[in-house]
Amino acid sequence: MNPGERGERWRDWRWQLVNRISRVEHLPLHYEEREALIPVAARYPVSITPYYASLIRWDDPADPIARQCVPSQDEVAFRLPDSTPDPLAEQRYSPLPGLVHRYPDRVLLLASAVCPVLCRHCNRKRTWRRPEALLGSKEWRRALDYIRRERGVREVILSGGDPLMLPLSRLSRILEALRAIPHVEVVRIGTRVPVTLPMRVTPELCSVLEGARPLWINTHFNHPREVTREAEEACDSLVTRGIPVSNHTVLLKGVNDDQEVLLTLFRRLQAISVRPYYLFQCDSALGTDHFRVPLPEGISMMEGMWGRTGGLTLPRFVVDLPGGKGKVSAERAHCLSLSGEEALFMNFEGETVRYRW
Ligand code: SF4
Repeated sequence: MNPGERGERWRDWRWQLVNRISRVEHLPLHYEEREALIPVAARYPVSITPYYASLIRWDDPADPIARQCVPSQDEVAFRLPDSTPDPLAEQRYSPLPGLVHRYPDRVLLLASAVCPVLCRHCNRKRTWRRPEALLGSKEWRRALDYIRRERGVREVILSGGDPLMLPLSRLSRILEALRAIPHVEVVRIGTRVPVTLPMRVTPELCSVLEGARPLWINTHFNHPREVTREAEEACDSLVTRGIPVSNHTVLLKGVNDDQEVLLTLFRRLQAISVRPYYLFQCDSALGTDHFRVPLPEGISMMEGMWGRTGGLTLPRFVVDLPGGKGKVSAERAHCLSLSGEEALFMNFEGETVRYRW
């Protein structure tokens, strides 16, 4: 089936998964372009749902949706000095397989190794071919024991991969087990399903999530063209079941490094009851350097939006500092210094950290 061609099973998420584009040979590009991408995909695989592929304008070589999912030579050919496979040092802060404990009051569980679309800017690209994280039943029991022991943990974040790709019975068991731990007040799920596979948000899935409230969904829209009718329906199904949906956007060169594009995105998200809460500076993950925007450009874009729209529309611009030093606000007032090539920040532990771009 050609991307964009809709059959009667279009709204069946399983059909969407089975029919993913998973080989560059199946991309609707010229033969020479596809051939050139084969070595890139050998290192960083490709996966695009027919739905997400249908959002691409294939005749536009600079299409912002294609840029997020179609492999590029830059992934292997362009590298900045500070890029690394694990930019947030998640392995260093991982006391157990599949569990990251960086901040005192929350832990991250890498619960799934599957994503409907493999985003070219993903900061866990290192795991695409060698998942570190599949929480099998043994690892899962150990992770639960760890969370039970760590009484300061009030929030558990399920990530991956995409946790909404787990079988419903497994997702339900995980959520029930977390809900049974008295000091875990909130569960958060990081998922790109509303963006790349919105038909996965079925009534059955919503029922499982509703039963695990207080539960927050944090999703990841990057461009206004991703806010489709299908995406809106998916978010609406969650919100009407009492599940708040917030969004983080990653600032990406060639995708959304434009003030009007960002403003349109944030306004559209607010209009579908999705709260834009973070705009992330792109991490220094190996294979994603061509997406990085100089920090002062991001700061200026956000400053230019103040006064043009309401505060609920505007996310906070943040940098997740390299080496697992934590998130900091990237507003000008929060930089200890800011030059053309680097900024100094003080992190939440009082440490001064250098960030370059
Ligand atoms: S959905 Fe998230 S984890 Fe999966 S490839 Fe995209 S950015 Fe990475």
